[in-house]
Amino acid sequence: VSGLLERLQAVLGPEHVLVDPDLRASYETDWTRRWTATASAVVRPADTSEVADVVRTCAAAGQPMVIRGGGTGLVNGSVPAAGEVVVSLERLRTLDAVDEVSAQITVGAGVTLAALQAQVRPLGLDFGVDFAARDSCTLGGMVATNAGGERVLRWGVTRTQVAGIEAVLADGTVISRLAGLPKDNTGYDLPGLLAGSEGTLAVITRLRLRLVPRLPARVVALLALESVAAAVDVVRRLRSLASLEAAELFLADGLTLVRRHTGSPAPFVATYPVFLLAECAARTDPSEELLELLEGAAEVADAVIASDAPGRSALWRYREAHTESINAEGVPVKLDVAVPLPRLAEAVDRLPGVVAAVAPGARTVLFGHVNEGNLHVNVLGAPDAAAEHAVEVAVLELVAGLDGSISAEHGVGRAKREFLRLSRGPAEIAAMQAIKSALDPNGMLNPGVLLP
Ligand SMILES: Cc1cc2nc3c(=O)[nH]c(=O)nc-3n(C[C@H](O)[C@H](O)[C@H](O)COP(=O)(O)OP(=O)(O)OC[C@H]3O[C@@H](n4cnc5c(N)ncnc54)[C@H](O)[C@@H]3O)c2cc1C
Repeated sequence: VSGLLERLQAVLGPEHVLVDPDLRASYETDWTRRWTATASAVVRPADTSEVADVVRTCAAAGQPMVIRGGGTGLVNGSVPAAGEVVVSLERLRTLDAVDEVSAQITVGAGVTLAALQAQVRPLGLDFGVDFAARDSCTLGGMVATNAGGERVLRWGVTRTQVAGIEAVLADGTVISRLAGLPKDNTGYDLPGLLAGSEGTLAVITRLRLRLVPRLPARVVALLALESVAAAVDVVRRLRSLASLEAAELFLADGLTLVRRHTGSPAPFVATYPVFLLAECAARTDPSEELLELLEGAAEVADAVIASDAPGRSALWRYREAHTESINAEGVPVKLDVAVPLPRLAEAVDRLPGVVAAVAPGARTVLFGHVNEGNLHVNVLGAPDAAAEHAVEVAVLELVAGLDGSISAEHGVGRAKREFLRLSRGPAEIAAMQAIKSALDPNGMLNPGVLLP
């Protein structure tokens, strides 16, 4: 390793090859605090050509690498497992000028979502994907995990926003396709393939991203309901509004936890079991069409509406503070599943029971993105590692039995790898293995992530 470190220092300068355990520490775990291991070193290349040099140098030495963005991924994809070199993209922070004619922008992989938003919003544009990790997560990480989030029902997942990619392959070769042509049927769609590849096929260094209009007139409604079935039915009708941008679900126990952690006041005088947060956005005020639709919805037991920015963020806080509030109570088992929408109510109904059967006394907190049938399943208080594993098995087998996905938006990482077979058949897994072997024959990039 020492010869390799010297070569990496020669490429990047000693200050960007971190070997001191204190300096490495934050790169050897992630936001979840569930996984930690030791890296041989952490390297911080500044641009595509330095990334290519690093990859070529490590590959020549047979040294595996783990690719790292903001470390906010939730499935153990960016944490070293056994002495890998961590390649951090944090210094690839170039934000080009917005191409307003095409409504596109080219960014470095290490740019955070919040920095992109700050760059494009003053021009009346926005990025179609948004979620609570925006201050830390990087665009490279979001594309590598094909992140979803709160606006998918309107604008689609991250892959949909990618118009071009530049990336370094496992042998150090650079592929670059950044013209951003909306029509370009010239063979395999490499940007589409790299989106969701979780750092197993290439290191993404730059991205050409589509932008969407930043719709200025917004209204948020927090609705109190008696059941998840009612929430699904309200969303079915809300979809008739072209302005609908988000439809998020949480439950009474999640609200209690959030209020304890944030000190937020109760949104309603009475208590209710189910809450639906809906946001509409348009060029002109969408409040009237939203209110008109809600007036006809008998399932809505109570509602709070806000159209000013502070009021809207106060309502969003009830939903967005779920992740941090759960983490403040302990290190949860985190699962991110999707079921066909007609089966969402059944899933919410059955999940706490299957958890309690294998981990009595554990607490199951559920919330998610209704329209995609996407539930975040967080289990607190499983007594030991065996119980945690039993919880994962019980939840994911239930979901697979409902024709669902064992990972809706967080990806597979190392955390969900053993369960991939519940969502993908042997032929599909063999095809994925063949792609991996073709692009990274020696398993240099993110070994053990996604595929066995
Ligand atoms: C509070 C919170 C809320 C969240 N909400 C959502 C949500 O609503 N929807 C959702 O989908 N996700 C959500 N996430 C998880 C989401 O996956 C990550 O926040 C984000 O997509 C990862 O970005 P990152 O830069 O932190 O990547 P990291 O965590 O550093 O890495 C994630 C994976 O991508 C790989 N990777 C990172 N950068 C690159 C690159 N440049 N090239 C190749 N591979 C790379 C890593 O090796 C790893 O496998 C949330 C996370 C948190 C903490």
